[in-house]
Amino acid sequence: MQISDEDDLQYILRNAPVGVCVLEAAGLRVELINRAFLEMTGMRHEAVSGKHYLELFHKANPDDETRLNKIVLEGRSYNDHNVSFVRMRHGKKQTITASFIYSPVKNKEGRVTRVAVWLLENTGQAFNEELAAINEEMAAVNEEFTASNEELSATNEELMKTQDSLRRSEKLFRSIALNIPGSLIIVIDRQHRYVTIEGDIMEKMGYNRRDYEGKHPSEISAGRYEASKHLYERVLAGEKFSVERRAETGEFYIVHFVPLKTQHGEVEAALIIAIDITEIKQAEEKSARLAAIVETSDDAIVSKTPDGVVTSWNAAAERMFGYTADEMIGQPIYKIIPADRHDEELNILARLRAGERVDHFETKRQPKDGRLLDVSLTISPVKDARGLITGLSKIARDITEKKQEEQRKNDFIGMVSHELKTPLTSLTAIIQAAHGKLRHSNDPFLSGAMEKAGYQARRMAGMINGFLNVSRLEAGHLLIEKRPFDLGELIREILDETRLISSSHIFGLEVCDNITVNADPDKISSVVSNLISNAVKYSPKGKLIDVRCQLVGQTVVVSIKDQGMGIKPQDIGHIFDRYYRVSTIHTQHISGFGIGLYLSSQIVSHHGGNIWAESESGQGSAFYFSLPLA
Ligand code: ADP
Repeated sequence: MQISDEDDLQYILRNAPVGVCVLEAAGLRVELINRAFLEMTGMRHEAVSGKHYLELFHKANPDDETRLNKIVLEGRSYNDHNVSFVRMRHGKKQTITASFIYSPVKNKEGRVTRVAVWLLENTGQAFNEELAAINEEMAAVNEEFTASNEELSATNEELMKTQDSLRRSEKLFRSIALNIPGSLIIVIDRQHRYVTIEGDIMEKMGYNRRDYEGKHPSEISAGRYEASKHLYERVLAGEKFSVERRAETGEFYIVHFVPLKTQHGEVEAALIIAIDITEIKQAEEKSARLAAIVETSDDAIVSKTPDGVVTSWNAAAERMFGYTADEMIGQPIYKIIPADRHDEELNILARLRAGERVDHFETKRQPKDGRLLDVSLTISPVKDARGLITGLSKIARDITEKKQEEQRKNDFIGMVSHELKTPLTSLTAIIQAAHGKLRHSNDPFLSGAMEKAGYQARRMAGMINGFLNVSRLEAGHLLIEKRPFDLGELIREILDETRLISSSHIFGLEVCDNITVNADPDKISSVVSNLISNAVKYSPKGKLIDVRCQLVGQTVVVSIKDQGMGIKPQDIGHIFDRYYRVSTIHTQHISGFGIGLYLSSQIVSHHGGNIWAESESGQGSAFYFSLPLA
């Protein structure tokens, strides 16, 4: 008799004409019970399954417990004939006699793992003989059953384990593949058939797991296969390599080919990993473009760490400063900063940290040959993803030419102003003398004309002085001659004179007495005059101009307020720049050169003071300057 399948065995046992009950050896609980056993004992399946055998049958024979234990321990069979017991059948009690045969079920090692109980109803001698025959056959079946059962369950267990771990690895593989962003992972076998295919760009790359897995690539797209075949052959020959591909849709991929080997070193499959590198490629292209721009720029473009170590140095920097990139990268930037300007770097960094922009900052740098170069710097912070400053990038423009040009212009202005001053001084003197003589003339026109001529000559002298001062300032020759004087008195004098000349405005004056400053009275006088004449120039006739001075700590603050056109916020930061003039319809007919405020600010700062303006467009302006007290 050949039993091939566990199911067959189960079937035979369940339908056997004798009662079969299988107990597990450890707990003697019912593991399997067939229909015949239940019928003969009059029990229901639900009532017995999982129960301890002796709970069901100990009444039949009190010695059963010892016997059962013996079977388990010693592995011998035991027969119990002519056992009488009462059963319920069709609602009636019946007493029957039966034989119980207990036989052990052993595993490969010979250990008893189960106990089989065979139950036969005693119906006569003939039956007993038949019973003996059946018993023998059953014993044989039992043995075979035991063996194949053991084998089956072992194989099954192993199979389940393998399947389980396969399933787990596959799941793991897919989840890994899906978790590599922008990737496609394919495993092919030696015949180039797709074993597995997974990845988040599968569909984008024109693959579909359902259509591909288990198939040969030639079945899906012959053209595509032809294009990749030589690569499959290379990887299956054991070569590990990568290629870059560009899809028709424009994406870039890097494809890695990895041979998968058995423990004996034979290639059994190949792993193909495609990764979308479009973004990296685009970034590379962009940075290559930027690098080209940086390299060909005429401006020196330099980057450095926050503590001033050079990290990049372009060709223009090499030309401008005479140091090669090799000589500068890794070196402190101080190499090209003149010793007296080392503090500048710290100031710049502090300004950048405070979120300020540093644009067109004019300074000097020292190239390798030692001469001084005029440069204009634009500096911006390089920040990381968290917004922290990780470096600085500097664009330096050589403005030596421009500076020389400016110098020539200044020299010219200086020379012209100087030359104009001499005849103008004589002219003023002549006008003054003529005015003195004609003041009492009978012709009122003559005295009036001389007064106006005198005023215009003074205006012209003022302008010429302004230009002269600018050129002196630029050349570093603006001379400040300080001496202590009463500031209030000076302001009062200037106002008195202004009142004489211009009767168009109302002047309010509130000055503190006895304010002594140690300053250059001529220069401070030109500051005050300039601010007052601007207030006159840029506010309508009849309006109030209010001049005050106030003590603030160890300084005096002078303010000149008007009720004129005011200054727009976008202009207020520039009005102290040289030659800066606001151009609006209101200012186009007002003459000027844009040097008054520039000169004033230079004079004030040469005195250690500050100058600033506050204004609301259309509401008037207020100019302030401060000077330290003597
Ligand atoms: P300008 O010779 O043009 O007056 P300034 O240097 O004195 O030169 O002034 C620069 C610019 O500032 C002027 O062109 C003007 O637009 C503006 N400005 C100066 N003072 C006033 C003021 N009190 N009210 C409005 N704008 C003013």
